[in-house]
Amino acid sequence: MKPLEQLVRPNIWSLAPYSSARDEYSGKEAHIFLDANENPYNEPYNRYPDPLQRELKAQLSKIKGVPVENIFLGNGSDEAIDLAYRIFCEPGRDNVVSIAPTYGMYKVCADINNVECRQVLLDEHYQMEAGKLLAACDVHTKIIWLCSPNNPTGNSLNRDEMLKVVEGFDGIVVVDEAYIDFAQQLSLRQELPAHPNLIILQTMSKAWGSAAIRLGMAFASKDIINIYNKVKYPYNVNLLTQQQASEMLRDPFEVDKTVKVLLQERARLMLAFQELPICQQVFPTDANFFLARMSDAQKIYDYLVERGIIVRNRSRIQLCDNCLRITIGTRSENNELVAALRQF
Ligand SMILES: *Cc1c(COP(=O)(O)O)cnc(C)c1O
Repeated sequence: MKPLEQLVRPNIWSLAPYSSARDEYSGKEAHIFLDANENPYNEPYNRYPDPLQRELKAQLSKIKGVPVENIFLGNGSDEAIDLAYRIFCEPGRDNVVSIAPTYGMYKVCADINNVECRQVLLDEHYQMEAGKLLAACDVHTKIIWLCSPNNPTGNSLNRDEMLKVVEGFDGIVVVDEAYIDFAQQLSLRQELPAHPNLIILQTMSKAWGSAAIRLGMAFASKDIINIYNKVKYPYNVNLLTQQQASEMLRDPFEVDKTVKVLLQERARLMLAFQELPICQQVFPTDANFFLARMSDAQKIYDYLVERGIIVRNRSRIQLCDNCLRITIGTRSENNELVAALRQF
């Protein structure tokens, strides 16, 4: 890995961050707070929330086995994705490399930040080859984006290939693990201490069933987390989100139960799809959705919309022609979907 100083944009490296009232005094002993121009009425919403979300990070640290100093929390993982560009990529000069097809936000954030995004096509099994990704890099490549399990294909990427990328690249490798709680494949979290160029993204939006509260996590070296904290909005995770997330995390085994139910439903639904005459192929998945190649994806999509059932039409994406992406719903929702498709 190049020294972090060479990877971070010079203006960010030398940035003097905004220092909020809560940064300057965060102790609990005082009882009169006249330092932040807050209103003394309307408790508890009158006070600015903890800018570093200490309580929440302490809970996550226990659950994930990652020290607090290696955790960044953001307004969804999408914030962590955008910040990666703003921290590492000089607009109009630097570039990033990503697999394709994959999650759309890597490219959208690249476009917003005026950064070139070089997309390297997966093979016909939706797997990647480390050598191909590394060959797409040049001296201005700052980040490689991996997503495992991958969206929209559903499969986990080969672990050894991912590690080859992490070890063979001298810049930052981000591995987006939004669906890791559904996967057979283990998280790369334990690889963090040995790989200072690795950033792992997770979220409360999927397995934790909390997409509405917007809470994403990044796990990385202390040095990278410190830069994230310098660049983020001071109060990027609001009080209601911190409280609700904290409440959910108090019962970390509850998530295992819903994951188990969804995995059972996934197996059932995939089997039903395989038996549909209009379904040509069901792709293996490690997530709470699967990709299915249909006889005529657009027509089937429109037909389902007509019946008030919305799936994701991915048929215009490379390597996904005639494919629909199906999220696993409740048992009765899944039954209704299958019943509708049998009548197509
Ligand atoms: C859903 C999803 C996310 C989640 O984003 P949030 O902003 O945390 O809701 C991140 N990455 C991928 C690949 C996803 O599919």
